[in-house]
Amino acid sequence: QAKEKGKNSVCFYTSDINERLIRYQEVTAILQRAIVTDSLQLYFQPQVDLRNGRIGACEALLRCFDERSQAISPAVFIPVAEKSGLINRIGEWVIQSACKQLKAWQGTALEALRVDINLSGKQLINQHLADHILQTLHDYGLTPGQLGVELTENEVFGGDEAQIRQLERLKQAGVHISIDDFGTGHSSLVYLRKLPVSSLKIDMSFLHHALENESDLAIMQAIITVGHSLGLNVVVEGVETPEQDELVKNLGCDQAQGYLYARPMPADQMPAFMAGFDSDN
Ligand code: C2E
Ligand code: MG
Ligand code: MG
Ligand code: MG
Repeated sequence: QAKEKGKNSVCFYTSDINERLIRYQEVTAILQRAIVTDSLQLYFQPQVDLRNGRIGACEALLRCFDERSQAISPAVFIPVAEKSGLINRIGEWVIQSACKQLKAWQGTALEALRVDINLSGKQLINQHLADHILQTLHDYGLTPGQLGVELTENEVFGGDEAQIRQLERLKQAGVHISIDDFGTGHSSLVYLRKLPVSSLKIDMSFLHHALENESDLAIMQAIITVGHSLGLNVVVEGVETPEQDELVKNLGCDQAQGYLYARPMPADQMPAFMAGFDSDN
C-alpha cells in the first residue's frame, strides 16, 4: 500500500511538472508573439498624493494578451519572462513605451505626471541599464525627474555593489526610486539608510488586514515612522474601500494607489480620468 501511495504521488508530481512546463512554454510563445507583433500594452494607475489630493504620478503596469485577446496576468508572465531571458527585451520595450507616453503627454494637462515603471532585478544585471534609461529619456526630450522606477525589496537588497551603483546613478540624475511591496521581503532597516531610495511602497497585504489585525496595523505604522525618519516618501498600495482610505490618511501615508481611486487603465483613458478627478476634489 505504501508503495502504491508512493507511486501515485510520484505520478502526481510528474504530471504537475509537465503541466507547468507546458504552461511555461505556452506563455513563452505568447510573449514572443506579443513582442514580434508589438501587442504588449502599458496600463497606467494613478497615484494620489494624500497631502494635497492631487495625482502627481502613475504606475505603468504591463499587459499581455494572448491570440484570443485574453489578458495574462503579469504575476504569471513576468516570472516566465525572467526565466526565459525575454525580460530584457520586454523591459526595454517598457522603458521606451513609458518615455513615448510621457512625450505624448507633453503640452497636455498630464504633462506634470511622473510615470513609474517596474524593473526586474534581472534587468539591473545589465551594467548599462542606468545609462540606457537616462539616454532614452534624453532622446525623447524628457528630464529624469519625469520617470520613476520600482524594484522589490529582495531585488534591491539582494543586489551587489554594481547594481546598487546603477540605482545611485539613476537617483543622482533625478529618477525617482521606489521599493515595491515593502515589508514582505527580507530587508534590514539599517541597510535601507544606505540605499538610493526615494519612496517605500507598503505591500498591500498589510493594508488589507490592518482593520482587523493589530499586528498588520503596527507594521504599517512602523514602516511609516521609519520611512519618514529616513526622509522617505511612504506610499500605500491596494486602497479599495473608504475605510482603508481614511486609515491611510490617518496613518500619515504620503501617497496612495488603489482600485478606490482608479484601476490601471489604457493611456487614452487617462486624460478624462484626470479631468474628472480634479473636479471631484
Ligand atoms: P506591483 O508593481 O506591486 O503592482 C501592483 C499590482 O496591484 C498591480 O497588479 C495592480 O493592478 C494591482 N492593484 C492596484 N490597486 C489594487 C487594489 O486596490 N487592489 C488589488 N487587489 N490590487 C491592486 P498587476 O498589474 O497585475 O501587476 C502585478 C505585478 O506584476 C506588479 O506588482 C509587478 O511586480 C509586476 N509587473 C507589472 N508590470 C511590470 C513591468 O512592466 N515590468 C516588471 N518587471 N514587472 C511588472
Ligand atoms: Mg510596482
Ligand atoms: Mg507592489
Ligand atoms: Mg509586486
